[in-house]
Amino acid sequence: MILFISDLHLAPQAPGVSRLFLDFLGGRARAAEQLFILGDLFEAWPGDDCLDAPDDSFAATMVDALRQLTSAGVSLSVMHGNRDFLLGDTFAARSGARLLPDPCLLSLPTWQFVLSHGDALCTDDHEYQAFRALVRQPDWQSAFLARPLPERQAMIVALRQQSESAKRDKASFVMDVNPGATDDFLRTHGYASLIHGHTHRPARHDHIVDGIHVERWVLSDWNDEQGECLCWNGEMLTRERLR
Ligand code: MN
Repeated sequence: MILFISDLHLAPQAPGVSRLFLDFLGGRARAAEQLFILGDLFEAWPGDDCLDAPDDSFAATMVDALRQLTSAGVSLSVMHGNRDFLLGDTFAARSGARLLPDPCLLSLPTWQFVLSHGDALCTDDHEYQAFRALVRQPDWQSAFLARPLPERQAMIVALRQQSESAKRDKASFVMDVNPGATDDFLRTHGYASLIHGHTHRPARHDHIVDGIHVERWVLSDWNDEQGECLCWNGEMLTRERLR
Protein backbone atom coordinates (compact mmCIF):
# COMPACT_ATOMS: atom_id res chain seq x y z
CA MET A 1 0.00 0.00 0.00
CA ILE A 2 1.19 3.49 -0.85
CA LEU A 3 0.20 6.66 1.01
CA PHE A 4 0.28 10.23 -0.29
CA ILE A 5 0.12 13.38 1.81
CA SER A 6 0.96 17.05 1.31
CA ASP A 7 0.49 20.53 2.69
CA LEU A 8 0.93 19.86 6.39
CA HIS A 9 2.71 23.19 6.79
CA LEU A 10 4.40 21.96 9.96
CA ALA A 11 5.42 24.80 12.25
CA PRO A 12 6.07 25.21 15.97
CA GLN A 13 3.06 27.57 16.04
CA ALA A 14 0.70 24.72 15.03
CA PRO A 15 1.30 21.96 17.60
CA GLY A 16 -1.93 20.14 16.72
CA VAL A 17 -0.71 19.37 13.20
CA SER A 18 2.65 18.20 14.50
CA ARG A 19 0.92 15.85 16.91
CA LEU A 20 -1.29 14.44 14.12
CA PHE A 21 1.79 13.99 11.95
CA LEU A 22 3.80 12.22 14.67
CA ASP A 23 0.81 9.95 15.39
CA PHE A 24 0.54 9.23 11.66
CA LEU A 25 4.25 8.38 11.34
CA GLY A 26 4.15 6.11 14.37
CA GLY A 27 0.84 4.50 13.44
CA ARG A 28 -0.97 4.50 10.10
CA ALA A 29 2.16 5.09 7.99
CA ARG A 30 3.91 2.04 9.47
CA ALA A 31 1.46 -0.21 7.63
CA ALA A 32 2.46 1.30 4.25
CA GLU A 33 5.26 0.19 1.96
CA GLN A 34 5.83 3.70 0.70
CA LEU A 35 4.98 7.22 1.81
CA PHE A 36 5.03 10.11 -0.63
CA ILE A 37 5.03 13.66 0.75
CA LEU A 38 4.15 15.94 -2.15
CA GLY A 39 5.34 19.29 -0.90
CA ASP A 40 4.84 21.81 1.88
CA LEU A 41 5.58 19.35 4.64
CA PHE A 42 7.03 22.38 6.42
CA GLU A 43 5.56 25.86 6.59
CA ALA A 44 9.06 27.21 5.99
CA TRP A 45 12.50 25.73 5.46
CA PRO A 46 15.34 28.25 5.70
CA GLY A 47 18.00 25.64 4.88
CA ASP A 48 19.11 22.26 6.23
CA ASP A 49 21.28 23.92 8.89
CA CYS A 50 18.04 24.63 10.81
CA LEU A 51 18.35 20.97 11.88
CA ASP A 52 21.26 22.00 14.07
CA ALA A 53 19.86 25.29 15.37
CA PRO A 54 20.81 25.30 19.08
CA ASP A 55 17.71 27.21 20.17
CA ASP A 56 15.08 25.40 18.11
CA SER A 57 14.68 21.64 17.94
CA PHE A 58 11.38 21.61 16.03
CA ALA A 59 12.77 20.66 12.60
CA ALA A 60 15.11 18.07 14.12
CA THR A 61 12.22 16.47 16.05
CA MET A 62 10.15 16.08 12.87
CA VAL A 63 13.10 14.73 10.89
CA ASP A 64 13.96 12.25 13.66
CA ALA A 65 10.38 10.94 13.44
CA LEU A 66 10.76 10.52 9.67
CA ARG A 67 14.01 8.63 10.30
CA GLN A 68 12.21 6.25 12.65
CA LEU A 69 9.69 5.55 9.91
CA THR A 70 12.35 4.84 7.28
CA SER A 71 14.37 2.78 9.77
CA ALA A 72 11.23 0.68 10.26
CA GLY A 73 11.39 -0.16 6.55
CA VAL A 74 8.93 2.29 5.01
CA SER A 75 10.24 3.92 1.84
CA LEU A 76 9.92 7.71 2.01
CA SER A 77 9.87 10.12 -0.93
CA VAL A 78 9.64 13.87 -0.48
CA MET A 79 8.89 16.50 -3.09
CA HIS A 80 9.56 20.19 -2.63
CA GLY A 81 6.62 22.53 -2.13
CA ASN A 82 6.60 26.28 -2.56
CA ARG A 83 7.34 26.69 1.18
CA ASP A 84 9.99 24.05 1.71
CA PHE A 85 11.78 24.14 -1.65
CA LEU A 86 15.13 24.38 0.16
CA LEU A 87 14.90 20.90 1.67
CA GLY A 88 18.30 19.52 0.71
CA ASP A 89 20.71 16.62 0.87
CA THR A 90 21.26 16.87 4.62
CA PHE A 91 17.51 16.67 5.21
CA ALA A 92 17.38 13.63 2.91
CA ALA A 93 20.32 11.92 4.60
CA ARG A 94 19.00 12.52 8.12
CA SER A 95 15.43 11.47 7.39
CA GLY A 96 16.22 8.62 5.03
CA ALA A 97 14.05 10.25 2.36
CA ARG A 98 14.58 10.35 -1.35
CA LEU A 99 14.02 13.84 -2.79
CA LEU A 100 11.76 13.70 -5.84
CA PRO A 101 11.84 15.98 -8.87
CA ASP A 102 8.61 17.83 -9.66
CA PRO A 103 6.90 16.41 -11.66
CA CYS A 104 7.66 12.75 -11.10
CA LEU A 105 6.21 9.71 -12.86
CA LEU A 106 5.23 6.80 -10.63
CA SER A 107 4.82 3.62 -12.66
CA LEU A 108 3.23 0.85 -10.67
CA PRO A 109 2.41 -2.66 -11.87
CA THR A 110 -1.27 -1.79 -12.25
CA TRP A 111 -1.38 1.98 -12.76
CA GLN A 112 0.52 5.07 -13.89
CA PHE A 113 0.59 8.18 -11.76
CA VAL A 114 2.25 11.54 -12.20
CA LEU A 115 3.02 13.41 -8.99
CA SER A 116 3.47 17.13 -8.56
CA HIS A 117 3.20 19.71 -5.82
CA GLY A 118 0.83 21.67 -8.05
CA ASP A 119 2.11 25.24 -7.79
CA ALA A 120 3.66 25.12 -11.28
CA LEU A 121 0.17 24.60 -12.73
CA CYS A 122 -1.18 27.80 -11.17
CA THR A 123 -0.13 29.74 -14.25
CA ASP A 124 -2.71 32.52 -13.78
CA ASP A 125 -0.71 33.74 -10.80
CA HIS A 126 1.94 35.57 -12.82
CA GLU A 127 3.42 37.27 -9.77
CA TYR A 128 3.95 33.94 -8.02
CA GLN A 129 5.36 32.24 -11.14
CA ALA A 130 7.97 35.01 -11.46
CA PHE A 131 8.92 34.52 -7.81
CA ARG A 132 9.06 30.73 -8.30
CA ALA A 133 11.33 31.05 -11.33
CA LEU A 134 13.67 33.26 -9.31
CA VAL A 135 13.94 31.17 -6.16
CA ARG A 136 14.37 27.88 -8.03
CA GLN A 137 17.61 29.19 -9.62
CA PRO A 138 20.72 27.54 -8.14
CA ASP A 139 22.49 30.94 -7.98
CA TRP A 140 19.67 32.51 -6.01
CA GLN A 141 19.58 29.54 -3.66
CA SER A 142 23.30 29.49 -2.97
CA ALA A 143 23.34 33.25 -2.34
CA PHE A 144 20.37 32.89 0.01
CA LEU A 145 21.87 29.92 1.86
CA ALA A 146 25.13 31.84 2.33
CA ARG A 147 23.35 34.32 4.62
CA PRO A 148 23.22 33.67 8.37
CA LEU A 149 20.28 31.53 9.51
CA PRO A 150 18.52 34.27 11.56
CA GLU A 151 18.69 36.60 8.55
CA ARG A 152 17.14 33.95 6.30
CA GLN A 153 14.40 33.32 8.84
CA ALA A 154 13.61 37.04 8.99
CA MET A 155 13.52 37.24 5.18
CA ILE A 156 11.08 34.32 5.06
CA VAL A 157 8.75 36.05 7.53
CA ALA A 158 8.84 39.24 5.44
CA LEU A 159 8.17 37.32 2.21
CA ARG A 160 5.27 35.52 3.88
CA GLN A 161 3.67 38.81 4.92
CA GLN A 162 4.03 40.19 1.39
CA SER A 163 2.51 37.09 -0.12
CA GLU A 164 -0.39 37.02 2.37
CA SER A 165 -1.33 40.61 1.60
CA ALA A 166 -0.97 40.04 -2.17
CA LYS A 167 -3.25 36.98 -1.86
CA ARG A 168 -6.10 39.12 -0.55
CA ASP A 169 -6.23 40.93 -3.89
CA LYS A 170 -6.14 37.78 -6.00
CA ALA A 171 -9.27 36.27 -7.53
CA SER A 172 -10.13 32.71 -6.50
CA PHE A 173 -9.32 31.18 -9.91
CA VAL A 174 -5.81 32.70 -9.78
CA MET A 175 -5.09 30.53 -6.73
CA ASP A 176 -6.11 27.31 -8.50
CA VAL A 177 -4.55 25.31 -11.30
CA ASN A 178 -5.13 26.66 -14.80
CA PRO A 179 -7.37 24.26 -16.80
CA GLY A 180 -5.44 24.61 -20.08
CA ALA A 181 -2.05 24.22 -18.41
CA THR A 182 -3.37 21.17 -16.56
CA ASP A 183 -4.67 19.51 -19.75
CA ASP A 184 -1.29 20.19 -21.42
CA PHE A 185 0.45 18.68 -18.42
CA LEU A 186 -1.73 15.54 -18.53
CA ARG A 187 -1.08 15.18 -22.27
CA THR A 188 2.69 15.58 -21.80
CA HIS A 189 2.68 12.92 -19.08
CA GLY A 190 0.91 10.25 -21.05
CA TYR A 191 -2.56 10.76 -19.52
CA ALA A 192 -1.38 9.31 -16.20
CA SER A 193 -3.54 10.03 -13.15
CA LEU A 194 -2.29 13.21 -11.52
CA ILE A 195 -1.92 13.53 -7.76
CA HIS A 196 -1.05 16.98 -6.44
CA GLY A 197 -1.54 19.28 -3.49
CA HIS A 198 -0.87 22.98 -2.99
CA THR A 199 -4.32 24.45 -3.67
CA HIS A 200 -5.89 23.20 -0.42
CA ARG A 201 -8.96 22.28 -2.47
CA PRO A 202 -9.23 18.52 -1.96
CA ALA A 203 -11.26 16.91 -4.73
CA ARG A 204 -11.24 14.34 -7.48
CA HIS A 205 -11.52 15.92 -10.92
CA ASP A 206 -12.30 14.22 -14.20
CA HIS A 207 -10.47 15.65 -17.20
CA ILE A 208 -11.19 14.63 -20.77
CA VAL A 209 -7.97 15.24 -22.67
CA ASP A 210 -7.87 14.31 -26.36
CA GLY A 211 -10.91 12.13 -25.70
CA ILE A 212 -9.17 10.28 -22.86
CA HIS A 213 -10.52 10.32 -19.31
CA VAL A 214 -7.82 11.34 -16.83
CA GLU A 215 -8.28 11.60 -13.08
CA ARG A 216 -6.78 14.41 -11.03
CA TRP A 217 -6.69 13.92 -7.28
CA VAL A 218 -6.05 16.98 -5.14
CA LEU A 219 -4.67 16.22 -1.70
CA SER A 220 -6.01 17.91 1.41
CA ASP A 221 -4.04 20.29 3.57
CA TRP A 222 -3.87 19.47 7.29
CA ASN A 223 -4.99 21.56 10.24
CA ASP A 224 -4.92 21.23 14.03
CA GLU A 225 -8.09 19.11 14.04
CA GLN A 226 -7.46 16.71 11.19
CA GLY A 227 -5.21 15.48 8.45
CA GLU A 228 -5.79 13.31 5.45
CA CYS A 229 -3.89 10.77 3.42
CA LEU A 230 -4.65 9.24 0.07
CA CYS A 231 -4.19 5.49 -0.02
CA TRP A 232 -3.41 3.36 -3.10
CA ASN A 233 -4.10 -0.31 -2.44
CA GLY A 234 -3.06 -1.54 -5.87
CA GLU A 235 -6.52 -1.07 -7.32
CA MET A 236 -7.97 2.22 -6.21
CA LEU A 237 -7.34 5.46 -4.36
CA THR A 238 -9.19 6.17 -1.13
CA ARG A 239 -9.10 9.20 1.16
CA GLU A 240 -8.51 8.52 4.81
CA ARG A 241 -9.27 11.02 7.53
CA LEU A 242 -6.64 11.28 10.28
CA ARG A 243 -7.58 12.58 13.69
MN1 MN B 1 2.00 24.82 -1.67
